[in-house]
Amino acid sequence: MSFPIFPRYRDRYLPALTPAQIAALPDRAWAPVIVPVGAIEQHGPHLPVSVDSFLGQVWVEQLLPRLPAGASCYIAPPITIGKSNEHTGFPGTLMISKDTLRSQLLVIARQLHAWGFKQMAILNTHGGNMAVNQYTLREINATIGLRAGSLQNRHSIDVPPQEATYGYHANEAETALMLAASGPYIKSGAVCEYYAKLGDTRDLRPERAGATFAWVSQDLSKSGIMGDATAGTVEKGERWIAHSAEGLAKAVAALCAEGRALAGVSA
Ligand SMILES: [Zn+2]
Repeated sequence: MSFPIFPRYRDRYLPALTPAQIAALPDRAWAPVIVPVGAIEQHGPHLPVSVDSFLGQVWVEQLLPRLPAGASCYIAPPITIGKSNEHTGFPGTLMISKDTLRSQLLVIARQLHAWGFKQMAILNTHGGNMAVNQYTLREINATIGLRAGSLQNRHSIDVPPQEATYGYHANEAETALMLAASGPYIKSGAVCEYYAKLGDTRDLRPERAGATFAWVSQDLSKSGIMGDATAGTVEKGERWIAHSAEGLAKAVAALCAEGRALAGVSA
């Protein structure tokens, strides 16, 4: 009997390896360990609360087959519950504090360093984690001696200006990505709900303005959707997943090149 407990990339998934296998990995001195950091939080009436953590797994699964020759990386167990204070007014949201997220990243970094890895990179899928990730990565670099950074993921490259400006959450992009990656989990109830219209001249906005406020989702949305969830399609999702995965694979390859140079290992 065999249960599909591990992901398809089990040969690169650290929890699937034995201590002896980890100790024998020949590229630990330069291959980065990717740490997916997501969230469990409301994503409108039509999407499961696991969207951010689910998409982290989609990116990992899609980037690995696209790694160029000579590139390598390993995948840490994901941090699936993130810092989601802003969504706690809706059922289904779980959250950890900024201090817990920082502590988790620090202990992962310390152990990776102890096992002989020299680089880690966060693959973040939730905006609310970003500030904590950034200062913790600096702390890891400064105090642990592990080179730590982030993989930048640019998806939804061709959304209309209204969506690009006010599509924050459970929006066209997230709906499209989930439709493409996990269609059966999508429910009805997608709506279009924007905090403001493009061209609105107000100076105070949630983001990207001269004056901003630290919003929680009820400030911006009744449905939990901030954007046009009705515009998400399977076709867009598939195209954006492929585009993102290519970019992520290139980013990993860049980390490998840097890691090799630092370790004095030739390609
Ligand atoms: Zn999300």
